[in-house]
Amino acid sequence: MGNRRKLKLASLNGMSALSGPQPLDQPTELPGPGAINAYVCNRCYNLTIVQNVDRGTTPMYMTCLAKEGCEGTARSMRYPPNPPQKVIDAVKWEWYRPTGLEFENLSPEMRQRVLNGELVLREKLR
Ligand SMILES: [Zn+2]
Repeated sequence: MGNRRKLKLASLNGMSALSGPQPLDQPTELPGPGAINAYVCNRCYNLTIVQNVDRGTTPMYMTCLAKEGCEGTARSMRYPPNPPQKVIDAVKWEWYRPTGLEFENLSPEMRQRVLNGELVLREKLR
């Protein structure tokens, strides 16, 4: 962990042939593997806690996933430093970069977003 080299986009199974503008105009210090973020819901005020598996960009807002049936919008807390253990224990979701078949099975739009450095959400693997 931590020493993982940046994925070379060109190595993604030949998908580098995808055209379109894709300057990687990102801050150089994006959160990397292990970083934990929380999203606060504007309706139920519960936290959706997400951990990075890979390095990449993540959205400022997402649908609340903290409470079943909640239709609130959750806002990023921008990776607060030194999260307490109870937050670490409550990680239920992961931001990751799909590769291989998983990448190829994405919609063209999502593939382009991944190539632009965006991470994808999944339930945390146990
Ligand atoms: Zn909510």
